[in-house]
Amino acid sequence: MSGESRKTVSIREVGPRDGLQNEDPVSTDAKVELLDALSRTGVQRIEAVSFVHPKAIPQMADADQVWSRAAKVDGVRYSALVPNTRGAQRALAAGFREIEVVVSASDTHNRHNVNRSTAESLDDIAELISLLHDAGATAEVIVATSFGCPYEGDVDPARVASIVDRVTADGADRVALGDTTGMATPRRVRDVVSVVREAHPDVPLLLHFHNTRGTALANVLTAVELGVTQYDASVGGLGGCPYAPGASGNVATEEVVHMLHDMGIDTGIDLDALLDAAGLAQRIVDRELPSGVLRAGPRSRTVPA
Ligand code: ZN
Repeated sequence: MSGESRKTVSIREVGPRDGLQNEDPVSTDAKVELLDALSRTGVQRIEAVSFVHPKAIPQMADADQVWSRAAKVDGVRYSALVPNTRGAQRALAAGFREIEVVVSASDTHNRHNVNRSTAESLDDIAELISLLHDAGATAEVIVATSFGCPYEGDVDPARVASIVDRVTADGADRVALGDTTGMATPRRVRDVVSVVREAHPDVPLLLHFHNTRGTALANVLTAVELGVTQYDASVGGLGGCPYAPGASGNVATEEVVHMLHDMGIDTGIDLDALLDAAGLAQRIVDRELPSGVLRAGPRSRTVPA
């Protein structure tokens, strides 16, 4: 390749999974409609469902039906989140070949989530990665609470880096750093990302921010300036925080896209189509979603003088 290439950022839409998992349950029809609308926005990656125990997360009980009915649009990579081997087998049987697993950087958070220490979960994940690779799938490890823990408070960036050391040694194809409860700020993004990238410059790194405390877009901007090119975001800012009822969900996809496009950074996403999908998401969950761009419209939309 020669010449100057245009700057691009890749967004993974997580509204159908992380978003809807933290909303009141909606119908299978509604989930399929939202997934299909998102598939036609130009987004390259969608986290479609999770395969979790229906008693633990009733919002995802119909994951198989949702996925079998959803349109699989060419050019879109779909992934599923799984908590364990059973979930991984369900995801593989459903046809997924990009799979995400989670471990918390904070021991207390990990115990609350899966009743195991972080070290025990890392052993499980090593086995899961082998299982996924044997099945021809890729494995992404999401390190939850990378920027702070609701139980322990600050998380040492060195601890996050040591988890990245371990999972990449075990064969993880990608690593995502999750701001599970919206505790990241630009300063902490800089601290954690610089330590992790210094140790692992070649590992594909993805960042996952929640807007619980209003810092998500600032965090994305900070990381873009640091050179990180992959982000999770949720249409309309769908979702919430399991530890703070009523709190905002993931950073809103259209807010990220709107900001980046105006900076001359391409995402491949059609903002109008995305705003239509955000409107649909809002109707589906039947509450006003927290996205400013959804509420006000893009800056390109002027009003009559
Ligand atoms: Zn999340």
